[in-house]
Amino acid sequence: MSNGSTPPVPRRRLRGTLLVVVAAVAVVGLGGWLVWRSSAAGGEPPRAGGISGHGTGHGPAGEDGGDGGHGPRGDGPGKQQGSLRGKVVVIDPGHNPHNRDHGREIARQVDIGNSRKECDTTGTSTDDGYAEASFTLDVARRARTLLQKAGAKVVFTQDGDRAYGPCVDKRAAIGNKAHADAALSLHADGSAAGNRGFHVILPARVTAGPADTAAIVKPSRRLGERLADRFHAITGSARSNYIGDGTGLDVRSDLGGLNLSTVPKVFLECGNMRDPKDAANLTDARWRQKAARGITEGITDFLAH
Ligand code: ZN
Repeated sequence: MSNGSTPPVPRRRLRGTLLVVVAAVAVVGLGGWLVWRSSAAGGEPPRAGGISGHGTGHGPAGEDGGDGGHGPRGDGPGKQQGSLRGKVVVIDPGHNPHNRDHGREIARQVDIGNSRKECDTTGTSTDDGYAEASFTLDVARRARTLLQKAGAKVVFTQDGDRAYGPCVDKRAAIGNKAHADAALSLHADGSAAGNRGFHVILPARVTAGPADTAAIVKPSRRLGERLADRFHAITGSARSNYIGDGTGLDVRSDLGGLNLSTVPKVFLECGNMRDPKDAANLTDARWRQKAARGITEGITDFLAH
């Protein structure tokens, strides 16, 4: 915003305009009320959006994210009221495009409960050099748009706006602090060519040091199953042919982002960047939009049903 002076508004004219607007609103409102009264005989007023009964009362109360009061959206006239209204979704775009310039910082060891691990890693890339960190940010941003349209409050762990990281323990802490109803860490794998398809990584039961996943193992599995179903249906991608015995689900105890989470959380490996056929999808913006839709619907299935 510039500091330039604003031209003075003539007060008298402004007041006159306001009166006209107020009068118009009153007339329209009265008209609408009369129409509603006349059609309400024997029936209840129509409910906008048509979605009810999902309210759990588990809203973002007590949020201290300080985002200036941006609440859930999706309340425009004629639009759906938002099946994710009141829900908090944390998206963790895996890695960071700038990690490669900060080798020393990301190599620092952090406590993940049952062991110590690097703060963060650079991630993989396609053979043509499309970085996993660019992919995860792109899909995350597409999913954020869709999730916000459905009424969710979306929190990112990073938005391409940091020098590196954050470290994996911090990524988990961000989801915890936001009291996320669902948290998702986005990735793409770097396995051998011929290994294809997506898989979801679920938290194992880990109770060690700062890690205690006992309370999130079950809901995270449900989140992962819904995600796998919708991601498969919408992208058309197959479940991994090299991890999870065809289920598209894996369980791991060596990921700080899962070990340290106190909210339902999974990782999604969207495909294998080192396989040419998977890479053709991952580098295709239309496919990435489908991926974002699959993610949004999976999270919605988990949260709204
Ligand atoms: Zn990754």
